[in-house]
Formats: sequence, C-alpha cells, structure tokens
Amino acid sequence: MITGKGRTACQGVAIGTILEIEAPTVSDLSNDAYMSVEQELELLQEGLACAATELEELAAKTREQVGEDEAEILEMQRMMLDDPDICDAIIAKIKKGAISASKAAIEVGIEQAREFEALDDQYMRERAADVKDVTSRISRAILGTNVVTLTEPSIIVADDLTPSQTVAFDRKLILGFVLRKGTMNSHASILARTMNIPSLINTELPDEPLNGRILALDTEAQTFYLDPDSETIEHIMEAKDRFYARQMQLLKLRGKETVAPCGHRVKAFANIGRPDDVEAVLENDAEGIGLYRSEFLYIGKETYPSEEEQYRAYAKVASTMNGKLVIIRTLDIGADKVAHYFNLPEEENPALGMRAIRICLTRPEIFKTQLRALYRAAARGNIAIMLPMITSVDEVLKAKAICAEVEQELKNEGIEYKVPSLGIMIETPAAAILSDRLAKVVDFFSVGTNDLLQYTCAIDRQNQTLGDFYDPHHPALLEFLRIIAKNAHDNGIWVGICGELGGDLELTDTFIEYGYDELSVSPSAVLPLREKVLKSKAQCKNILSSK
Ligand code: PEP
Ligand code: MG
Repeated sequence: MITGKGRTACQGVAIGTILEIEAPTVSDLSNDAYMSVEQELELLQEGLACAATELEELAAKTREQVGEDEAEILEMQRMMLDDPDICDAIIAKIKKGAISASKAAIEVGIEQAREFEALDDQYMRERAADVKDVTSRISRAILGTNVVTLTEPSIIVADDLTPSQTVAFDRKLILGFVLRKGTMNSHASILARTMNIPSLINTELPDEPLNGRILALDTEAQTFYLDPDSETIEHIMEAKDRFYARQMQLLKLRGKETVAPCGHRVKAFANIGRPDDVEAVLENDAEGIGLYRSEFLYIGKETYPSEEEQYRAYAKVASTMNGKLVIIRTLDIGADKVAHYFNLPEEENPALGMRAIRICLTRPEIFKTQLRALYRAAARGNIAIMLPMITSVDEVLKAKAICAEVEQELKNEGIEYKVPSLGIMIETPAAAILSDRLAKVVDFFSVGTNDLLQYTCAIDRQNQTLGDFYDPHHPALLEFLRIIAKNAHDNGIWVGICGELGGDLELTDTFIEYGYDELSVSPSAVLPLREKVLKSKAQCKNILSSK
C-alpha cells in the first residue's frame, strides 16, 4: 500500500478502480493531421458508428429523464447520420483533397447549415442547428475528444484536467478525482465541487502505471491510499459512514430560511456549469442559481452552439427551478476555458487577453445569438443575465445597446421574449473601484472572487507552485468586498458573491457584516452555508434591506 497527501478540492470519501487519463493540450484537441484518403475514410466510418451509438444512448437517457419531444430531436439526429446528403458530401470532400475526416465533417456541416439557414421555412431553418450538431459530433468522435467513456464506476487519476474534460464525464460513474497538480480555484476544482465529486489535488501519486489498481481517498484526512490493505478499507468504510451521517444531518436544514441571529437575511444560491447540475441544486434546497457558467455550452464542441440549443438549455434550467431566480452569465470563454473554433489569437497572457465580454463586444454576432436565446428563455422562467470581466461603465453601456438591438429584433420577428434583469460580475480591480458608478447602470452585482483575487494580487489562480503567496483572505480583497457592498447598497441594488470565497465559512460573518444579500456556492455547500448563517455571531450595525 502507498499512502500520500493532497489538498481537498471537494469533500468526500471514495474507493474504487483507477482510470488514468492524460490531460489533452489545446493542440491535442485540434490534432487532426491528414493521413491518407483510405485512412481518413476508415476513420469516418468509425466516427459515424461511434456517433450513432452515442445518439442512441443519449436518446434513451433523454426519454427517461427529460421527455419525449427532446428524445425525438436526438432520434432525428441519429437518422441524419444515415442521410446520404451528409455522408456522401463528407466522403466526396475526403476523396477530393488532402483534408482530414474530422475537418471534412465540420466543413460539410457549415455548408449544409448555410443552405438550410437561407430557406424561408422556419422549420427547415431550425434544421441548420441539427446539421451542425450532428457533423460536429461525428468530428469529435473521429478525433476521440468525446467523453472519456467510463464503463464502470472509477476514480479518475490525471496530472490535471481541463474544464472541458471535467464536465464531459458521466457524473454517475465518477467516484472521485485524484490529481497530481491543480489549484483550489482552477475550473477543474470548481467543477468537481459543483458536481460534488470527492477530490484531492496536488497529490504525490507515484509516476507508474496506475490503471485498474484500487485507490481510496479520504478528504477529511487529506490522504489517498493506493492498493489499500484490508485494515485501510475498513477505515475508509467508517469514514464513508461518518460523511454520510453528516450529509443526513445537513438535509434537515432544507426548507429553512437562511437568516442570521442578528436579523440579516442571506440568500443561499448555488453555482452550476451544466443543466444537469440543477438536480443537485434542488436536492440541496438552494434558493436560486447565482451563477450558471454558460461557457460550458461552448467548450468541448467543434462549433458554436446554436440559438435553439442554448434556448433549450436555459429554458430547461429556468423551468426546472420553477420561479426561483436563475442568473445566467454570458459566455466567459478565454484564459483556461478554451473553445478552439473561436480562433482566438495566441496570447502571451491569456488571463489578461481576449476573454469574456471582450469577445462579445468585438464579435457581436456571437453575443447576439446568446442574448436572443436568453431573452426567449426569460419568457419561460425567472432569468437574469450577468456580464463577466467588466472593467468600465462604457463596456456595460455597449453591452446594453446590443441587448436593446436584440430586443427590437425579437419584437419585429414576433418571437416571444421577456427582458431579463441585468447584472455584472465584479471580478476586476477596475470594476471594484468603479463600483459606485457601475451600480447606477445595472440591477445587481455578483463578486467573482476567484478572478478578483487573481487580478488584485497579481497572482495566477492556476499556478499551484505559489503556495502561501496565494492568500484568499488577503486584506486587499476583503477591503474591496466591503467597498463593493457599500457602493451597491448606496445605489439601491443588491449584491452577492459567486466566487469560491462565498462558501468559505470562516468569512461568513464578515460577509454578513458587510451586508451581502446573496452567497452563491457549489450545490453541496449550500446547506453548510445555511447552517453557518443560522449560528452566525455577526453583529450587523445596519440591517440593509435584501431584495
Ligand atoms: C470568479 O472569477 O470568481 C468567477 C465566479 O468566475 P470564474 O471562476 O468562472 O472565472
Ligand atoms: Mg471569473
């Protein structure tokens, strides 16, 4: 047995068989070097077969868990795989020139979608999205960048994970993550918490073949056990029982209001990355969704999600939340969240580069597609929009002008929509300093402490070697948090925190004293937060009215 230490990225106890995976680099993901016509044709056949199996499985799962209409869309896409118009066009492209099967599929998708989009018939126009969806599925299947297929419950071991890998796993089959690298605020760790997967990062796992061996992890002890002996297995089972008993105790807090003894009411919201995460939001009785990271609809794909695809995802989340507020952040692509089809320039400092709102303002066609989907979905539930990475009032006004255009277009087209309220993330020092002015042009603030700390202290949230220099309780960050809340309330808007610090129970009393109205945390952290607020010793001088 080998024992080693790590840092807890998500609490829990697990034991199971190891599936070791390699983290793909961005270049791996676009690695589709051309081989020969024969080999590319062979790859195409494999890709088609794999895409067919995926769609069949997905349709069956959707019929069971979502509904008949949604399952039929997937069955229709499955039939498109046999459509000679699509297959023959891909084959013809491969035979014609030095093009890889995966690229040929994407090109055919784009060309045929363009033809559908030009048609008058609304139904046929909507098929454009399906063509693109199907051809990008074929392409991903060929590249092998689809979900790492888990066939049995496994503990995933890797050096590190990309955000797209993390969301692509089938949640039901992942028992835990044990990573050699990683940081607490990397998106892989954040997503592990959102999906409630016991995780240890920064571990000293040996560099030797691990696949198929047994691994146990106990995050309370911050320890992993490779090839555990029978005594250790017994100890792990006891730790599992203790963890389960604690969860049962927390579930008793469902249905209670999150109010501190001093009278301050905090809304305990949850963060999600995928529509599937809503299940955990409801299970843990979150009072709303404070951050839906919409960029996960974009990453791990070969092309942009269509308006229809986005509309379906947003409307489904909003209707499942049944009237509770759902704050959907517009796409925050860039930095570590990579979607290669955006064709962003290579950057020396991607965290300081073309990301989030900067992409939306320079490529309004992408932004408008998302806004149209959001405005339409707002007619189906209680949706608010939130803009990431804001640094100036001007950016907000420009984004609002694009929102107004979208509204006008939907009105002219006679499409049902509702204007959602509009908030911004405060996650740059510029926005924190300008929060008094920004509060005059938006409906709410939500503080992104992950980036605000990174940019305030000039410290990379992805770099695990910085040790104690990375201080989430840095006084400069806390002072910003105080100022932001004051400026929000002085201007009559509400303010929350959706960065990971919102779930840091050592700071809950401080947030209450600053007057924070909402704290949005991973679903499994909602009830511990409620418990902490209910027992809070915070002394609120002024109880600010929470909206
Ligand atoms: C943040 O920066 O705190 C935040 C919530 O956004 P993300 O972690 O997705 O960058
Ligand atoms: Mg951020």
